Amino acid sequence: MQESPYLEGRESLVGKFRKPTGMSASYDCIIIGAGPGGLQAAIHLGRYHRRALVLDHGSGRTRHALHIENYLGITAISGKNLVDIGTEQLKAFGGGFRHENVESVTVANGFVVTTDKERYQAPFVIASTGVTEKIPFIARMNRFFGRSVYTCIDCDGYRTMGKKVVILADSVEGVRLALGMKQMFTPEITVVLPEGVLPADFAELLAEEGITARAGTPQEFLGEPGLTGVRLHSGEEIPCEAAMLNYGYTLNDGYLAGLDLAREGNRAEIVTSHVHETSVRNLFAVGALRPGNPQAIIAAGQGCQAAIEINRRLLEI
Ligand SMILES: Cc1cc2nc3c(=O)[nH]c(=O)nc-3n(C[C@H](O)[C@H](O)[C@H](O)COP(=O)(O)OP(=O)(O)OC[C@H]3O[C@@H](n4cnc5c(N)ncnc54)[C@H](O)[C@@H]3O)c2cc1C
Repeated sequence: MQESPYLEGRESLVGKFRKPTGMSASYDCIIIGAGPGGLQAAIHLGRYHRRALVLDHGSGRTRHALHIENYLGITAISGKNLVDIGTEQLKAFGGGFRHENVESVTVANGFVVTTDKERYQAPFVIASTGVTEKIPFIARMNRFFGRSVYTCIDCDGYRTMGKKVVILADSVEGVRLALGMKQMFTPEITVVLPEGVLPADFAELLAEEGITARAGTPQEFLGEPGLTGVRLHSGEEIPCEAAMLNYGYTLNDGYLAGLDLAREGNRAEIVTSHVHETSVRNLFAVGALRPGNPQAIIAAGQGCQAAIEINRRLLEI
């Protein structure tokens, strides 16, 4: 890694942590994942002249967000642009950035972070690797994803205003989503759930609200160039101008499997303190890995908080 001018002549506090043989380098903090959570943490640590390294394998939900319009101070920006600017910003403050896939984190004289290429050591680690949406195969998805096919009401519900919307889901969460969408954005909603998933009382509730329910599984999105409908495996075609998918998501946390972390909820999200420290001391988790709503500005705020706390502890070492 090229050293930044910000670090010149500075004796790193990590010198107090012995560097075992076979280790690539030691840092004050290794940040895993370059979404808004990880990048914000790296920017703060860089501005404290801490040696921070961001490791990212180059994907992530934020990069798929075409229009972020709810981030304070920015009228509209794509997620890719937000992440690219954040990456340049962290480098300007001396942060390191490497394209590597993190395979494990173990506790040994601080933490050892092993990637597909190297091993690193640091007294602090921030996990900020987000989640991956569970999305069933539906033909022609890529053509419409992020443009008229969405996965997050907080992010893109606003973009469905007044449109004919279909909600594709695999649980009664889809019913809750439909009721919320009707209250806020549009009265023209059809919910599609797999056969046998919709309980009678929920079906009544939907009927009372004027929301159409269908049993079936989606096969293909229709329309050229704009979305005009969804075809089910039964052959039925449901007209729509926008679709909201609700199939849940899984945490990108396989590299933490060796650590006994406190977790909660159906998705076993990582429990953290008010400064976003996990149940393993000096290991922090921010963004969508922890309970709460996966939003860019929330992840960034948590990254900021974790970095401030880590810097405070480094001052005390
Ligand atoms: C289509 C879409 C639209 C959205 N719109 C909005 C919006 O309008 N407003 C809003 O606030 N939010 C929006 N979001 C949500 C938002 O982008 C993220 O959920 C939120 O920013 C959480 O960020 P994060 O830092 O936790 O994770 P992410 O942004 O997902 O970043 C995680 C990073 O970790 C990396 N990573 C994962 N595993 C590994 C590994 N093992 N090794 C190395 N790197 C790894 C990935 O490459 C990725 O860069 C949208 C999401 C999507 C999908």
